[in-house]
Amino acid sequence: MGKVFDVVVIGGGPAGYVAAIRAGQLGLSVACAEGNPYADPKGEPRLGGTCLNVGCIPSKALLQSSENYHLLHDGFGQHGISVKDATIDIATMLGRKDKIVTQFTSGIKGLFKKNKVTFLPGHGKFVAAGGAGWQLEVGGEAVEARHVIVATGSNARKLPGVPVDNEVIVDNVGALEFKTVPKTLGIIGLGRFIPSRRDGRDVMIPVEEYRHEMIQRVLREAGNLDEFRQLWIESQDRRKLIEHLQGDNLSPDLLRDFERMTDYDNYDLFAHHGYHARALKRPERKVVYLTGNEAWFASLDPKAATVLKGLGHQFEVGGTEALETPTLWEVPEIKAAGGLDALRTIGTPVAVMKDAKTRLFAA
Ligand SMILES: Cc1cc2nc3c(=O)[nH]c(=O)nc-3n(C[C@H](O)[C@H](O)[C@H](O)COP(=O)(O)OP(=O)(O)OC[C@H]3O[C@@H](n4cnc5c(N)ncnc54)[C@H](O)[C@@H]3O)c2cc1C
Repeated sequence: MGKVFDVVVIGGGPAGYVAAIRAGQLGLSVACAEGNPYADPKGEPRLGGTCLNVGCIPSKALLQSSENYHLLHDGFGQHGISVKDATIDIATMLGRKDKIVTQFTSGIKGLFKKNKVTFLPGHGKFVAAGGAGWQLEVGGEAVEARHVIVATGSNARKLPGVPVDNEVIVDNVGALEFKTVPKTLGIIGLGRFIPSRRDGRDVMIPVEEYRHEMIQRVLREAGNLDEFRQLWIESQDRRKLIEHLQGDNLSPDLLRDFERMTDYDNYDLFAHHGYHARALKRPERKVVYLTGNEAWFASLDPKAATVLKGLGHQFEVGGTEALETPTLWEVPEIKAAGGLDALRTIGTPVAVMKDAKTRLFAA
């Protein structure tokens, strides 16, 4: 019979080592098994999983080096600082990255000691149910556990017929070990990026980051949905908002394309992502506007009502923009009903349009 633990965690990545430490803090007898040596010089299993060994930490270490190089080359000029003949020494860069990884992964060993977690180096597997609960084998040694936490993570998915040799075709492990800067590089599984400009440079920004930036910008101008609706209805305020976004190289139309929200107006893009409102497609918003305001239309001069219903149809076709272009008054349905003159029979056109838009964006 092997040593008995209250909990054995299989996998020493961020999920596994945190679970093991917490179990230790709660007073349970706990062990954590990890079988991958990653780049350990002695070939001994290393804690930290993908994140610390071949993921988050090494990639950020390299990104910081790249960023420094970029600043030296292109960024510091605007501060009046220039450096001639800046070079990049990949071996030093990789050495720094490896040192950081070693520091971090051995830090977990220290945390294990502090929290009385037994490190079981080796591949763990279930042998049988029974004994204290589960019989396991870790690196050939028998272990028993009352509870087992499986935190074995994941590996990069290999494409059929495309063998990863980490020379020509690399996965996340090889990508962190390039000995020279590749002149060209094809990336499969790039995620979704939106082209933009930052600091005078063309860059690709992850959709999530781009959306976050844009929404934060909108939230600074309107703290809640009601304020945002008011802003959107006032065409001057709305234009100012769009100009501000464009000034920051943020395009709502582009984001809408990437979010596959082309059937929606930008109002719904912002209302949904910024204020958690239910997004309505343009045709849906039109229907809600027409059916939800039947009593209002019936109470109006019939020609004015036709014009106002026409706004719904135009919104369906071209969104908010279509309501703010002079060609709106040339639309046959609206023109035939008297256009602006028809609206004047029930109030000032500005006030009537504002009322109609308030109703259109009420849902
Ligand atoms: C290049 C890259 C960059 C990343 N950057 C970020 C980031 O910036 N932010 C972020 O949040 N996430 C990032 N991630 C994702 C992050 O690394 C993972 O989400 C995280 O590592 C998952 O943790 P985990 O513990 O579930 O699994 P893993 O980290 O995969 O750990 C599982 C461990 O279990 C071990 N194991 C498996 N089977 C057994 C067994 N039978 N016996 C013993 N041990 C076993 C494995 O060897 C492994 O060490 C990045 C990933 C990559 C590849």
